[in-house]
Amino acid sequence: MTGLVHFAQAPHSVELRELPIPDIGEDDVLFSVQAVGICGSDLHQYAGKQSWTVNYPVVLGHEFAGVVAKTGGRVRGFKEGDRVVSETAAVLPSDSAFLRQGLYNLEPKRLGFGYGVNGAMAPYVKVPGRCLHHIPDALAFEKASLTEPCCVAYNAVCVNSHPRPGDTVAVIGPGPIGLLCAMMAKLSGAGHLVVIGIPADAHRLEVARKIGADTILGAKGEDVVEWVKNFGDGYGFDLVIDAAGVSSSLKMALDIVRPAGQITKVGWGPQPLNFSLDPLVQKAVTLQGSFSHNWPIWEKVIALLASGKINLDAVLNRVSPLKDWREAFEQMHSGQIVKGVLKP
Ligand SMILES: [Zn+2]
Repeated sequence: MTGLVHFAQAPHSVELRELPIPDIGEDDVLFSVQAVGICGSDLHQYAGKQSWTVNYPVVLGHEFAGVVAKTGGRVRGFKEGDRVVSETAAVLPSDSAFLRQGLYNLEPKRLGFGYGVNGAMAPYVKVPGRCLHHIPDALAFEKASLTEPCCVAYNAVCVNSHPRPGDTVAVIGPGPIGLLCAMMAKLSGAGHLVVIGIPADAHRLEVARKIGADTILGAKGEDVVEWVKNFGDGYGFDLVIDAAGVSSSLKMALDIVRPAGQITKVGWGPQPLNFSLDPLVQKAVTLQGSFSHNWPIWEKVIALLASGKINLDAVLNRVSPLKDWREAFEQMHSGQIVKGVLKP
C-alpha cells in the first residue's frame, strides 16, 4: 500500500512510500481508511516545526473514518464491514491512573496516531478496538473524518468552558479549531459571538461569518481592544477561547475578558509570555487549558454530526486523492481552504 510518511526532522521530510499492510494483534482491528482529515499538526510536522517527539519514520494522519477490514480475536462489538471512526490515543499504559478515570487523553505516556505510531494517511492502519466508534450510514466518510477536530472544540467549549445561553463569546484564531469552537459556542447558545483574526485570515474570517459569527474582527487590522470598549456594556466577553496560541493572543484574551469571566486556551504556542498576568488576578478570571477528548465526547459529536446540528459544509473545502497531498497541505497552510480531506 502507499502511505504518506514523515521520515526526518528537517523541513519537508514527507513523502509517499510503499509500505506493507499492517499486522494486527488480538485487540486490534485492521482499519480501511476511506477519508482522513489534514490537521494543523500534520502541517507543523511537514514544516519540521512540531514541538512534540516524532517516532520517525511514521505515517501521518489522525483524523479518519472508514470501515473495519479485519478484527483481532479479542475485539468485541465491531465486525468486518462496520462503518467507524477512531479516537487518537493509539497507545496507553494499561496501569494508567488517567485511563481508569476515563481521562486517558491526559495520560502523559499516551502515544497518538501520526507521530507516535503509524497514522491513517494510508489505505490501512492498525487500530486498537477500544478506540472505535460506530457511525451511522447517513454520515459520509469525508464529514465523519472530521469528528476528531470537532471533539477538540467540543471539549474546549462545552466541557472545559461553561458558557450559558446569552453569554458573549470571543474566539481568537479562525483556523479549523477556532472555527469549530465558534460552532460549538453557537450550539451552546452564545449571545453575541465574535471571531478575531489577522489580515492573513481574511478568507477564514468570511467562513466564520457563514457559520454564524455576529462580528468578525482583524481582517482589516482593526484595534480589537478599542472595539471591545464600545461593545455592549464595555466590560468585555464572558468567555474568550484562545485558539491561536501565540503569546499575544493570550494577552488579548486577558484584555478583552470580562471580570469573573473565563479564558480557555486550546491553541499551542511554545514561546514564553512577555507580559504580566496581573489582570488575571485583578479581574478574577478563570484560565483553563483544554486538550484532546475522550469517549463520551466522541459519542456526543457523532450524534451532532449525524443530525446535521454540526454542519461542516463551510469548513470542509477540499476532498482529494492521497497523491495530491502536497497541494492540499499548501492550500491549508496558506489559509486558501480551511480544511482538506484526503482519500487514500
Ligand atoms: Zn488534529
